[in-house]
Amino acid sequence: MKQPLIVANWKMNGSELLLRDLVRAFERQGPDLAAQVVLTLPAPFFSLARALLESGEISWGGQNIHWQDEGAFTGEISAPMIAAMGGTHCIVGHSERRQGWAETDQVVASKAQACLRADITPIVCVGERLEERQQDKTIEVVKRQLEAVITNLAPALLEKIVVAYEPVWAIGTGQEATPEMAQEVHSSLKKLLGTQCLQSPPVLYGGSVKADNVAALLAMDDVDGVLVGGASLVTEEFVRLCAYAGEQAKNNSNG
Ligand code: PEP
Repeated sequence: MKQPLIVANWKMNGSELLLRDLVRAFERQGPDLAAQVVLTLPAPFFSLARALLESGEISWGGQNIHWQDEGAFTGEISAPMIAAMGGTHCIVGHSERRQGWAETDQVVASKAQACLRADITPIVCVGERLEERQQDKTIEVVKRQLEAVITNLAPALLEKIVVAYEPVWAIGTGQEATPEMAQEVHSSLKKLLGTQCLQSPPVLYGGSVKADNVAALLAMDDVDGVLVGGASLVTEEFVRLCAYAGEQAKNNSNG
């Protein structure tokens, strides 16, 4: 059975208390999670994540890094710093950074390369804005965003990334894409990835994923996991979401 990948994105939220609470809730749930879980956290919680998650199955990572490995970049953190602390993943190109910090496709590509240099997994976010969907430009936009990242990656490196399709209009709005909409985009992204490598990296869906809609999304052939914002900040909801994701993966492999 292929385990779905569930990535929590806390954004600039949460607390040490929440992290402890979440880890305890997963411990109560028992070892048979049937999903791979990664918590992407604000940097001040990295030390605690390292201490709490060292021996368990849950991994953790960052939400953004600089594209350089070190230097005079006040306020920034680097991929090698995350790796040195035991973090395994980092989000790059989240739409909030593309919009709020004017990150271009090229900057996102450089950040993905920085992650790979440090041997951590970049979770490369792509997604169209509402007006782009309305103009029927969704596939064009997400392919352009992904192409910028994958063009200069050797197949062996490309197979180490994770892609997250996150329609901007679905993030934090409570209005998720339908499973069919997600499937259509994922299938195009996987075709593109398939032209560059044999083993397509996982493609996650993100945008208003909750415990109640995760199973329907994961029932789609090309949805390999989910990226979860708001629902990852509510312990009971997130643990339930991960459990449902695991059950859906079992159903997929039985059916
Ligand atoms: C996100 O920020 O990546 C996200 C998917 O948020 P939400 O789940 O709250 O829509």
